[in-house]
Amino acid sequence: MDPKPKAPVGYDDTPLIPGTLWRVHDGRRPQPKVVTAAPGQPPSDAVVLFDGKDLSAWKSAKDGTAAGWKVEHGYMEVVHGAGAIQTKEHFGDCQLHLEWATPAVVEGDSQGRGNSGVFFLGKYEIQVLDSYNNVTYADGHAGAIYGQYPPLANAMRGPGEWNVYDMVFIAPRWDGTGKLISPAYITVFLNGVLVQHCQSVQGPTGHKTVSSYDNPHPPTGPLELQDHRNPVRFRNIWIRPLG
Ligand code: MG
Repeated sequence: MDPKPKAPVGYDDTPLIPGTLWRVHDGRRPQPKVVTAAPGQPPSDAVVLFDGKDLSAWKSAKDGTAAGWKVEHGYMEVVHGAGAIQTKEHFGDCQLHLEWATPAVVEGDSQGRGNSGVFFLGKYEIQVLDSYNNVTYADGHAGAIYGQYPPLANAMRGPGEWNVYDMVFIAPRWDGTGKLISPAYITVFLNGVLVQHCQSVQGPTGHKTVSSYDNPHPPTGPLELQDHRNPVRFRNIWIRPLG
């Protein structure tokens, strides 16, 4: 498809937009790329990481062998002891879509209830937890940047129901001397509700630790899902690299 306008579009006598090569309403400015998208479907330019069939895009985070989680009925499920799994492919700045469900039968409480996690670059965790009528420390709820920032709201659906994460991750950058230029930023929607708003991250997330950017790392890495003992399920995972 190559839709040609009947007359020239835009202007060539308008002011330059600061910081760009373009004039306001510049008719020569490239058109946005076309992406086809429909609700419930991965956009046409997405990398599909799990379509319900197999774990071919994933491996064991521990030793690189085949990912040992269960796949059935269109979802994957944590197998306790199999350990975390991570994508074979590495990603940096990205848009991520992922659906998850905590066990329908509630066992445990606080951090012991439906715990897993989504780790960008294998280092920055957005918490997965059954936060439905579950009191725990605020920076450990579903949608938290773990140990740093609680979610802006608790938008959890009940145990056994599917939740939807849509996230944007921007990786941190350092200069050649190891000085931080820009921290990581994370935006998260949980079930369509904004729970992290372009939040600057303090460094790789951890348990009972304060973080820093003292150890520079590459701007890409694997996406990782956590084995935190509980049989949490995931489905319909896709990612769009940005930039
Ligand atoms: Mg976790």
